Amino acid sequence: MGMLNLFAKQAPDGLTSVGAGAEPLLQLDGVRRSYMQGGGELEVLHGITLSIYPGEMVAIIGPSGSGKSTLMNIIGCLDKPTAGSYKVNGTDTSELAPDDLATLRRDFFGFIFQRYHLLGHLSARENVEVPSIYAGVKKHKRAERSALLLERLGLGGRIDYKPSQLSGGQQQRVSIARALMNGGQIILADEPTGALDTKSGAEVMKILSELNREGHTIILVTHDPKIAACARRIIAIEDGSIKSDEINTKVQEPESEEHSHSMIKNVWARTFGAFYDRFKEAFIMAWRAMVANRMRTLLTMLGIIIGIMAVVSVVALARGASEQIMANISSLGTNTITIYPGERMGDVRSGRVRTLTERDLNALSGQPFVDSASASVQTSVLLRRGNKEFDATAQGVSADMFRVYGYVTSQGRLFSAQEVARNSQVCVIDHNSAQNLFGAEDPIGKTLLVNTTPLAVIGVLEEKDSPFVRPDSLNIYMPYTAAMTRLFKQNYLSSIVVRVADGFSTAVAERSIVTLLRSRHGRQDFFIQSSDTIMKSISSATLTFTLLISAIAVISLVVGGIGVMNIMLVSVTERTREIGIRMAVGARQSDIMAQFLIEAVMVCLIGGFAGVALTFVVGSIVQYFVPSVVLSFSALSVLAAVFTSSAIGIVFGFMPARSASRLNPIEALARE
Ligand code: ADP
Ligand code: MG
Repeated sequence: MGMLNLFAKQAPDGLTSVGAGAEPLLQLDGVRRSYMQGGGELEVLHGITLSIYPGEMVAIIGPSGSGKSTLMNIIGCLDKPTAGSYKVNGTDTSELAPDDLATLRRDFFGFIFQRYHLLGHLSARENVEVPSIYAGVKKHKRAERSALLLERLGLGGRIDYKPSQLSGGQQQRVSIARALMNGGQIILADEPTGALDTKSGAEVMKILSELNREGHTIILVTHDPKIAACARRIIAIEDGSIKSDEINTKVQEPESEEHSHSMIKNVWARTFGAFYDRFKEAFIMAWRAMVANRMRTLLTMLGIIIGIMAVVSVVALARGASEQIMANISSLGTNTITIYPGERMGDVRSGRVRTLTERDLNALSGQPFVDSASASVQTSVLLRRGNKEFDATAQGVSADMFRVYGYVTSQGRLFSAQEVARNSQVCVIDHNSAQNLFGAEDPIGKTLLVNTTPLAVIGVLEEKDSPFVRPDSLNIYMPYTAAMTRLFKQNYLSSIVVRVADGFSTAVAERSIVTLLRSRHGRQDFFIQSSDTIMKSISSATLTFTLLISAIAVISLVVGGIGVMNIMLVSVTERTREIGIRMAVGARQSDIMAQFLIEAVMVCLIGGFAGVALTFVVGSIVQYFVPSVVLSFSALSVLAAVFTSSAIGIVFGFMPARSASRLNPIEALARE
């Protein structure tokens, strides 16, 4: 902020009478101001030429509509002349950028308005501190000075009152304290007593005169000759032109030259870290605005909450499902390869392909990369025991198959490789079959009729949830040899499961198997599935699915974002006057922008956190009542949700924030 040197100049010696020997502090030269109105131009100020010197107290008097406020706004750098020049301490204001003008307003001018223009949701002290926040002053220094100023203006006991709890005279005194907060070398008061009773008005005038004696330059606008009589210099204005400019000899000239000069500097030392403080204050202001409109904020947030909940829970559901599938698959062991007849998964002719045989199984078993190869055949059967009959699935398997699937017996034993080789008529039944067929009876050693073949039960499997078996189905397992010869009367296999030996990669084993079987069959009439490929295809399928559903969930987030934008636009419109006040006391465009942007981001961020938290809560409740629903929350999805919600705040808050920062301060102030 190294641009403003306006007041660094050596102040002139001696400050005697109007203009005599001193350089003007404010200099207007042929200032004109016209408004566009109904297609035509209406000139309100017709070439005002005027110089004001340090330490003066000037009253500008004129009837209503004569252009006093228009002139005052130009003097205070809230407005620009359409023609002519206006210099502050020698610098032409037309050369200054908006931020420089904001700095001028903030550090050197102090505004006092007819309607006080205090911020309703802030206490007296907080109102007084606003200009110093924009100046980047540390909190404790601000608190010290605001308390001092309020004390001095007789409001020591009302520091924490809101404007609505103060009388008009008290509010005006708060606004005087605010004007003085950053120094207020030049105090601009537009009808400061206009809304006050005679007594309060007199008090305010007394304060202004006192300030003038201490060295503040005071410019005061009034339509009341009695008020104007308090000033040493009275300028009469009529229809936008100066009618007279006279010294009021009844008022003594202030003596304290020393004082007035010492006042011409910034009361605050520039501090680093001011940026952080400004940010913090913008944050607090945004928070207060949100709290002040609780219901509306909550409803706006609801859109974001729902959007975030949708995204997070969809991702958690998809992850949960895919993790569950993965866990089931990896419980099979990651180094198994299954060979099926047919050309691919779901090949309708695979049932007719009969080339996968026991000889293939034996050939595979002999390979060095094969730890074990087991066959399986499968068919639906009728189980009978006494007068009980049940539909069941009979699986002919190798002895190894139990190891591959991790099946364990709760009673009896599994069959051995020898029993498989001997076509033994034994079987292992699952828990369901044991319950249904035998009830409380011990099934071991008993005989079952499978279709018409008798089998001896040698073992019962432990009850186990398996993704491949319906929980209410009955399954029995028998040597595949016996199954093929006695039950199915077929000489081909439904599948071969190869367990890859340690030290061999699944991919290499897969390729070798393909080569081997192709040379044996003369063509590829089989297909291969390893747990690796299954996992890969499942994870890519779940990813696609998750992305698709997330895209839909994101739409709800965008809708939430539009809600935020809508509310922020309303908020800007509603708080136009507040924005005007903040600009008048020195907020830069970037300060206003930051305030609204932070507000939007906060609504979205809080909504985002609430959405994540609610998803956890709702998710836990659902999981408690429906255990089959598996949710897997990832830190990444939570992070992404929070990131997305702040991004939405920035994107959708940007337009309202920008339109707020671009408001014309005069028009904003005029809004009620
Ligand atoms: P005063 O403060 O002396 O009562 P103002 O400076 O407020 O008078 O207004 C002077 C004239 O300029 C009035 O006739 C008013 O209608 C006109 N005027 C003020 N502001 C605007 C504006 N934004 N657009 C058009 N005309 C305006
Ligand atoms: Mg006016």
